[in-house]
Amino acid sequence: MKKYRVLVTIIIAMGIILIGQSNPINNFYKSAGLISKGVNQGEEVKKDNKEKDNNDVKEKKYLICIDPGHQSKGDPNPESVAPGSSQKKARVSSGATGVSTKKPEYVLNLEASIVLKHILEGKGYEVIMTRETHDVNISNAERATLANEKNADMVVRIHADSLDNSSKTGASILIPGKNSKYTSSIYEESSKCAELIKTSMKSNAIELNGIFERDDLTGFNWSKVPVVLVEMGFLSNYNEDQMMSNPEYQRKLMQTIADGVEEYFKTK
Ligand SMILES: [Zn+2]
Repeated sequence: MKKYRVLVTIIIAMGIILIGQSNPINNFYKSAGLISKGVNQGEEVKKDNKEKDNNDVKEKKYLICIDPGHQSKGDPNPESVAPGSSQKKARVSSGATGVSTKKPEYVLNLEASIVLKHILEGKGYEVIMTRETHDVNISNAERATLANEKNADMVVRIHADSLDNSSKTGASILIPGKNSKYTSSIYEESSKCAELIKTSMKSNAIELNGIFERDDLTGFNWSKVPVVLVEMGFLSNYNEDQMMSNPEYQRKLMQTIADGVEEYFKTK
């Protein structure tokens, strides 16, 4: 019996020690604290994700394709003016030449396009170019197809005009035809962007002849994404030819285009 008492005493003593160490009330608060912290951590994670989502929306980069018109050597081989059309035009021409500067249009177009690219990138847009050198052979249909494949949010084609009448001046904005079966689906967005570029040009005192629908341009008819073409001015006019090669004017003109494009994306 003595052994039994000793055993019972030891068991009771151990029990008291264990209870004392485990401190169930403290542990309860600790667990509650942990659970509560766990919930808070969950909320933090959720909040972080939400903020990330919002930033993703805010930072969704629109993709703009710039097409500097023409190339060093034109390619007279024919291509269809529209998908499935039997009507054909030269794949691409070398463009006009400045009456004063003697600068070929394809050189001016790329010069200005690079300025535009930098301004748009500065605004946070992603920009791709159909060409970055002169020595290429990319037809107008191929340029449009490239923008389609990249799923560009807007295509800006950069050109300069030329006429027999050397007194004609001013920029023009060309857009795809509203009633063309090839481009009716991209007309609305193209037109919206053109209008905003027009507003931007007007408020910066750029001479603009207007916005013109064209259903005869291969580069428009093959396009599945909104597209505008800016004719910067007339290479056939002595002053305007020089003006378009002036870096200050070039920058101003490209800035007005970029501002118009930015206004367009604000409507999205
Ligand atoms: Zn041109």
